[in-house]
Amino acid sequence: MKTIGLLGGMSWESSLEYYRIINETTRLRLGGLHSAPCILVSVDFAEIEVLQQEERWSEAADRLAEAGRSLERAGADFVVLCTNTMHLVADELQAGLSIPLLHIADATAHQVQVAGLQTIGLLGTRFTMERDFYKGRLSGRHGLNVLIPNLEAREIVHRVIYEELCQGIISPESREHYRHIMAQLVRDGAEGIILGCTEIELLVHEEDSPVPLFPTTRIHAVAAVDYALV
Ligand code: GLU
Repeated sequence: MKTIGLLGGMSWESSLEYYRIINETTRLRLGGLHSAPCILVSVDFAEIEVLQQEERWSEAADRLAEAGRSLERAGADFVVLCTNTMHLVADELQAGLSIPLLHIADATAHQVQVAGLQTIGLLGTRFTMERDFYKGRLSGRHGLNVLIPNLEAREIVHRVIYEELCQGIISPESREHYRHIMAQLVRDGAEGIILGCTEIELLVHEEDSPVPLFPTTRIHAVAAVDYALV
């Protein structure tokens, strides 16, 4: 089995889920006492968040590339960047590495296609919902039709991620907001919804949505195990 390099801490609330799902999936696949060989580099999210807010993306890319290279030096065979948002600098990160980066949007698009869906709602940080690095990859590379919430709803989704989920706060009131926002996406034509932020699946679950959900932490973590076992 290949050694999985986890680039986490964005936030650690979801990195913990990656670690759990990767090991649970490895046990399911291999049985007994098997667990996944993996290495974690976990950054200080407060520092990364400042770079995001100030749109200092090339500095953020340098930080992540440095962390990625330390995974490589420690013996990782590939890198799993444990956040959707920071895939904004995926190309720069990959350029600084000689091992592959397993892209979260590709793993997610694959599952949407396996489910036979074409039009998909996307929830995430405002960077993920509004910038092209994610939506553009889903549509350009994978042929999906991507819907995002309106501006007011995007602000709620974004705020809940940073002010609550990344700080370990799970609020029933925010879950209710998300339920309404997902219902509106379905009325707009979404056949499924991508939980395109690695903390959202801590808040909402299948029963909160009238259509199938695509939780990116679970999808990415399982894809990592599948890739490690090839
Ligand atoms: N974990 C989140 C994501 O998947 C948000 C935190 C971040 O900005 O990296 O996008």
